[in-house]
Amino acid sequence: MDTLKTLADRKKDIQFLMKYAVPETQVEPAEALLDKYDADVIALNLLYSFYINLPEGKEDSVNGLRLLSRRQGVFLLCAFTGNGMSYLYLVDREAAHIIGTLAEGIIDRDLLDFFGYADNREVLALSRKPETLQDYEPYSADSNMCPSCHAAVGEFHTLGCPVEICPWCSGQLTYCNCRFTRLDIDAMDKVSQVEKLLELLEEAGRIPFKREHRPGYPTMDEE
Ligand SMILES: [Zn+2]
Ligand SMILES: [Zn+2]
Repeated sequence: MDTLKTLADRKKDIQFLMKYAVPETQVEPAEALLDKYDADVIALNLLYSFYINLPEGKEDSVNGLRLLSRRQGVFLLCAFTGNGMSYLYLVDREAAHIIGTLAEGIIDRDLLDFFGYADNREVLALSRKPETLQDYEPYSADSNMCPSCHAAVGEFHTLGCPVEICPWCSGQLTYCNCRFTRLDIDAMDKVSQVEKLLELLEEAGRIPFKREHRPGYPTMDEE
């Protein structure tokens, strides 16, 4: 898949939706925000979800994005709007899902656990001081994130990420033949095979993301 084309297409879709969603007085900051994040699939997924669903069912726009937490390519972001609302979103490279307003925090126990919050009070404490939340930095080529699955340095990739390095041959795990030879199969088409592969990978020691693994990283700088 051509990522650049996908991002440009997504931006166009958002611009189209914005024509009907953004009040006239909010157009400028809304467009500035879209431009700021137009190379960031996470932010674009959030904006697309916002503008196609409009949480309150009436005209509004996103004019700020802040980061509460992120883990394994899953981002907990807060979107601030021209109407003075703030919404929590759960976003990965595939899609964005609204959780609710920042003032309500997070009720879902699994979600609290995933991001390491003891309880919703921790989230609500953040919601009382939204200005202390860090600005969500748009993805850039020198960021500390896997460009494909958005794992941070030191984290494991989402299984199937083309940047993950094979622990057996040091090639690209999604392209080398190790998965077939290790499982002694010709094709991978069953969930049980994927589970077995993950088990074998963990035994062999999966290789977490490092900056040097990014495609196009200057190889001359490598040790
Ligand atoms: Zn990755
Ligand atoms: Zn391999």
